[in-house]
Amino acid sequence: MDRSYQIGDQVLLIDTKRRQYLITLEAGGEFHTHSGVVFHDRLIDAPDGTSVLSSSNSTYMSFRPSMAEYIKKMPRGAQVIYPKDIGAIMMIADIFPEAKVFETGVGSGALSMSLLRSGANVFGYEIREDFANRAQENVKTMLGESALKKYNVKIRDSYQNIEEQDFDRAVLDLPEPWLVVPHLKDALLSGGIVVAYTPSIKQAIKFREAIANNGFSLAETIEVLHRGWHVDGEAVRPDHRMVAHTGFISSGRLLYK
Ligand code: SAH
Repeated sequence: MDRSYQIGDQVLLIDTKRRQYLITLEAGGEFHTHSGVVFHDRLIDAPDGTSVLSSSNSTYMSFRPSMAEYIKKMPRGAQVIYPKDIGAIMMIADIFPEAKVFETGVGSGALSMSLLRSGANVFGYEIREDFANRAQENVKTMLGESALKKYNVKIRDSYQNIEEQDFDRAVLDLPEPWLVVPHLKDALLSGGIVVAYTPSIKQAIKFREAIANNGFSLAETIEVLHRGWHVDGEAVRPDHRMVAHTGFISSGRLLYK
């Protein structure tokens, strides 16, 4: 398969200071920067990884965005889950091809993308129509139109009920995940896994109480600390700055009743 950039593709431009810009390639398109213009035509039909010069001779690397890069740059409605947490959620929720996954809320679709790319069938409940539309647009842009076949988003309040059944997995990212848990007792298959992402430990505790009261076992709560390192010759040390807190990831497994 030809991996060259085509018109309509998303391309990440990276300057010498590692600043990243996401563009959509258009015939005759121009990307204006503080250091000149990057002409899209220099990228169209060029291979992934090509470096180009701007009109004032600044070098820009170009790459197809990875999913993590796309998530950081994509248009957002709701706050997205950080890639470091998405990675952990995928493993803790044990997402597998053709898994039937309940997701609520879908927000900007960052977590949805990862679920879909792992081959899951995603049933998403989102209360806000504008976010639901945005999430589907983002999924289409990153994964292509065909990904939407496995992405079933409904405008619904998941605190009220869950219509479908026989889910293998449930991933919750909304303010009161404990209000969804009673519905999962019936919607999730026994042996199924629920994972909730919550910024505050108070939310994590309420979620833990809810799963304990609704037939779940093997409860765990973790957070992911991701510390980058500066590696430059003899100067090797942890980065001065890190994102100290994003959220807690709590999980449990449904017992056979
Ligand atoms: N995980 C998403 C972000 C979700 S943000 C991502 O990675 O992009 C939380 C979302 O939950 C918001 O979009 C909000 O509208 C939605 N939400 C809040 N309460 C809800 C409810 N009761 N039912 C369904 N969705 C809800």
